[in-house]
Amino acid sequence: MRTIGLIGGMSWESSAHYYRLINEGVRARRGGAHSAPLLMLSVDFAAIAALQHDGNWAALAQRMADAARTLADAGAEAIVLCTNTMHKVADAIEAAQPRPLLHIADAAGAAIVAGGHRRVGLLGTAFTMEQPFYRARLAERFGLEVIVPDDAGRADVHRIIYDELVRGIIRPESKARYAEVIARLVAAGAQAIILGCTEIMLLVDQADSPVPLFDTTAIHAAAAVAFVTT
Ligand code: GLU
Repeated sequence: MRTIGLIGGMSWESSAHYYRLINEGVRARRGGAHSAPLLMLSVDFAAIAALQHDGNWAALAQRMADAARTLADAGAEAIVLCTNTMHKVADAIEAAQPRPLLHIADAAGAAIVAGGHRRVGLLGTAFTMEQPFYRARLAERFGLEVIVPDDAGRADVHRIIYDELVRGIIRPESKARYAEVIARLVAAGAQAIILGCTEIMLLVDQADSPVPLFDTTAIHAAAAVAFVTT
């Protein structure tokens, strides 16, 4: 099997799920006592979130590039960045070291196309919902029409991620608010919803949506399993 390198801790709440999902996937494919050969470099998310909200993407690019290089030097044969938002600096990660980056938006885009959907609603941090690095990739590479919540919806989705989910806080009223935001996206024509933040699956499940949910944590972990076991 091939060794994978995870850049985690953004937040660890979702990285823990990546670790379990990748190992479960390898066991499902290989059976017996098989588990995934992997390395994880996990950061302090408080420092990352502060830099994000300061708009210091140059410093974030440097940190992610350093992390990827450390993993590659330690034997990782591909890099998995366990967050949607930080794919804003995907180019820096690719430039810093020779191993492929298994891009989370590519895994999500391929899954949505395979599901036969074209107009999709995107939930994630404000960075992911509002900036082009994620939406443009889905549009250009996969021909998807991506819609996002209105101003109030985006603000609530973002706030719940940073104030609650990355801190391990799960509130029923936040779950209800997400369901409401999803319902509005569906009313606006969304045929599917991308859970484009790796913590949203901690709060929301298929029962909260009348259309299929695409959980990027599970989809990205499956891409990692495919790499490890190929
Ligand atoms: N895990 C989240 C994501 O997938 C948000 C945390 C972060 O900003 O990295 O975007």
